[in-house]
Amino acid sequence: MEGETHRVLDASAVLRGGLGFEDEKYLMPSSVFREILDPLYIEKMQSLIRLNRLNVKDASKKSLTRVKEKAREVGDLVNLSDADLDVLGLALETGGVIVSDDYAIQNTAYALGVEVEHAFHEPIKQRRQYTYYCRGCGQRYMPGVTECGICGARVKRKTQKSSVERL
Ligand SMILES: [Zn+2]
Repeated sequence: MEGETHRVLDASAVLRGGLGFEDEKYLMPSSVFREILDPLYIEKMQSLIRLNRLNVKDASKKSLTRVKEKAREVGDLVNLSDADLDVLGLALETGGVIVSDDYAIQNTAYALGVEVEHAFHEPIKQRRQYTYYCRGCGQRYMPGVTECGICGARVKRKTQKSSVERL
């Protein structure tokens, strides 16, 4: 797949996206492939596999660990299914562009520096941002810090309302 951008699909991209599959190459984790139950779509996937345009492949443990760490940092780990994590891991390690309408996937992908395209061609409306601050002394922190380095109290996450931006 060198030299060309391939797209990593989640189930929403296949089932709701109305993808024309006019792009050259696609990747999909096996967990996503198993989520697709409609015989018509299964047939479509299988024909793409035969044409060598779709590859069903799983992310390495290492990539998945990195995805989970980042998802935890941005606060979306609880919102991601195993298949979602597989999609993120696969895109991360192959340099692919994710096609998904899933909000948590989008949010975590941004944090990982992975590009996302929407299955529906609508612009992203909102992007969640959080601030992290110490409950004890109010010191602000970067994501991932759980305990205040100054006073030792817990670091809490707060949605930054003013920063919900329209893109
Ligand atoms: Zn503190």
